[in-house]
Amino acid sequence: STTPKHSILDSLNNAQRRAVTSDAATVAILAGPGSGKTHTLTSRVVWLVDHVGYQPQDVVVATFTVKAAREMKERIGKALGNGREKKIILGTFHSIARRYLAAYGRHIGLSEKFNIADDNDSRAIITRICKRLQLGLDPPMAKAWISKKKAKGMEPSPSSAPQPSKKQPTQQGQRDLEVCYQEYQSHLKRSNLLDYDDLLVRCVELLRKFPSCVSNIQTVLIDEYQDTNGVQYELMRLLAQKHQRITIVGDPDQSIYGWRSAEIKNLWRLLRDYPKTDEISLEENYRSFQAILDLSLLVIQQDKKRYQKVLKPVHDRGSRPVLRKLKNAHTEAEWIVSEIRRALYMSGTMLTYNDVAILLRSASLSRHVESALGKAGIPYRMVGGFKFYERAEIKTVLDYLRVIHQPDNNDAFGRVMNVPKRGIGDGTIKNLIEEAEKSSLSLYSLLVKHCRGDRTAKTKITKHAEQKISGELIRMLNGIRKKMEEATEGKSLGLVDLIDHLLTALNFQNYLQVTYPDDHEQRWANVQELISLANDFVRDLDRSGEDALPEIEGLEQSKEEDVLAQFLANVSLASDAQKGEDGQESKPMVTISTIHAAKGLEWPIVFIPAVYNGSIPHMRSEDGDEERRLLYVAMTRAQALLYLSYPVYNNPGSSDTRTELSSFVSSVASSFAKKGPNFERSLMRHIAKVLQRELPSEKEIFAGIPNMSHTEDDLFPVDPDKAYKEDGQGFDSSRFKRPKLYNPVVISTGG
Ligand code: ATP
Ligand code: MG
Repeated sequence: STTPKHSILDSLNNAQRRAVTSDAATVAILAGPGSGKTHTLTSRVVWLVDHVGYQPQDVVVATFTVKAAREMKERIGKALGNGREKKIILGTFHSIARRYLAAYGRHIGLSEKFNIADDNDSRAIITRICKRLQLGLDPPMAKAWISKKKAKGMEPSPSSAPQPSKKQPTQQGQRDLEVCYQEYQSHLKRSNLLDYDDLLVRCVELLRKFPSCVSNIQTVLIDEYQDTNGVQYELMRLLAQKHQRITIVGDPDQSIYGWRSAEIKNLWRLLRDYPKTDEISLEENYRSFQAILDLSLLVIQQDKKRYQKVLKPVHDRGSRPVLRKLKNAHTEAEWIVSEIRRALYMSGTMLTYNDVAILLRSASLSRHVESALGKAGIPYRMVGGFKFYERAEIKTVLDYLRVIHQPDNNDAFGRVMNVPKRGIGDGTIKNLIEEAEKSSLSLYSLLVKHCRGDRTAKTKITKHAEQKISGELIRMLNGIRKKMEEATEGKSLGLVDLIDHLLTALNFQNYLQVTYPDDHEQRWANVQELISLANDFVRDLDRSGEDALPEIEGLEQSKEEDVLAQFLANVSLASDAQKGEDGQESKPMVTISTIHAAKGLEWPIVFIPAVYNGSIPHMRSEDGDEERRLLYVAMTRAQALLYLSYPVYNNPGSSDTRTELSSFVSSVASSFAKKGPNFERSLMRHIAKVLQRELPSEKEIFAGIPNMSHTEDDLFPVDPDKAYKEDGQGFDSSRFKRPKLYNPVVISTGG
């Protein structure tokens, strides 16, 4: 047979091309990291729309992160042109589910204005329930338990739980969990909230009852399939129910969301449910130097139960990955800084801070790295679990927006009632919430009722508090809501205007000054950052945002959501969001990311600090194999240079908390280099080749920095470990000379 021609096929190898053009209804691509799975999936979308002729609005693509969705949309957009990518239903499972629920949720009894409870909201609600009902539960554990139940589609059933007996006190715990689950569900319902699990579960319900919502869908494509859970599998099946055309790509070795009920067995389930699946493997790794790939494979091959696949490097051997032991987390961070500078310096303008990632097992490890980068004047961005949206001042503004959007949200309302201070104590708020819950009212309606002088609501609040609430809070909120309603008649009140208006009404800057005398400026700057995020969001919606779901005959859609609703949903779903993430950052920055959020991405230079037992494998993890896969994911992000490191002492200045090298690495430690490469010209040329970049000449590199001989000793006169005082009294920065010539600006902005 002759292979059809299309420019999207040009950059592909044979196996990839076969996957892109396959006529099979179901296509499964199982292959290792860097083999081009995502690249192939994106190309297949373009192929299906542009060559096979599917309408963009009939194609669903699920990615694992918001960032991945954005990148994919951009690439597809470039290949398709005419903004056709906007019509494709492309996003994370959660965001796809949310869109369907926003459009059709009312057919299954959902209010049109639901809010999303993110993981932190859920945890807070559960903590409160446990306290109120005196349940002897650990809230995070209870949350995980509830989440597992929901993922399995199980309703709370406290009555069916076994009665506690003397013999089996654990049955009490079981009962408490069921009670907690029930309370939690009714709380969400009352407050018109859906948590992450609900988004999926309710969407499954919707698609089962009203299959016509997705009657237009021709095909469903899924990236990072190994991390889908049971409910997501069901959602995929239902989205594709009309034509049963599914393409999945994944890698069992990179399954790292078992703690969120992701199931590797969904892979085998797919092959069983869709027996005619065309299975295609991709065997070439286009991402990394051979030396990086070899060592990563040594690590993952320690798992004897794994599904074996071939993965061959296409690139040169490159330089050996580094494994470095340092005194403590502080010197470790200093070492990372010096290695970043060395690599960037020796590359002239070829490498910038954008090419560097520091990947951490947990967000709590970032402190030392942040402070070392900060001290060295190296700009960085944080991705994944670092919680811009959780700063107190940001959370307050968002909570007000949530209340404005949907006043029945008791959690948000309870949190802002006394912020800024209105003389309403925590006890009063708690009582009010309880009273509202008892009378099945929302807090807001209860207060409105009360303020109207309706004494059937017998709230116990002081006159002063009452005045503050009715005179200030309710009036202000009503004022803003009225403004919005008026505005929507003609044109909508802009999101940014709305936030501005809110901040003025709250006198928010003044509130910050009074409440946080030490760092109110930083906090106000954060609020400004939120405004600029809102601004970007609105601009993105106009530019590359998504079109409404296509109309389905006989099934009415809710009218288009307002921008505020979309913004709030975006904030709640963008757990992997970062500041300034819009592909047009002005200055290069190092990325600090959790390993989880780094999945699917790649960088020329990757550091993985804190590779010790307790950190990775993490002490609280129950699944050692998953921890190993996590390290494998981290290592395989690197294209050219990979550095692992760990501190001997966990705690600077103390010698009693010795660490030991991660057991995943200890057996292969001898295969690592002990220090970073010397960056000979030949290595730099290889790096340029892998990255397909121009390498500046030696003359150009050294011309930028006058009077500089370029021997290694000149560059790094003191080893960070030697700068550490042997008496263990702390870090002596005066002994760690940082050559002045390393002005980071010279290195990073050169080209
Ligand atoms: P992961 O498992 O980490 O998600 P992946 O299999 O999805 O990896 P991609 O991210 O799609 O891999 O590709 C890795 C790199 O290889 C990308 O930079 C991509 O552009 C490049 N690449 C993929 N296929 C080819 C090819 N046929 N020729 C050249 N480069 C390729
Ligand atoms: Mg990928």
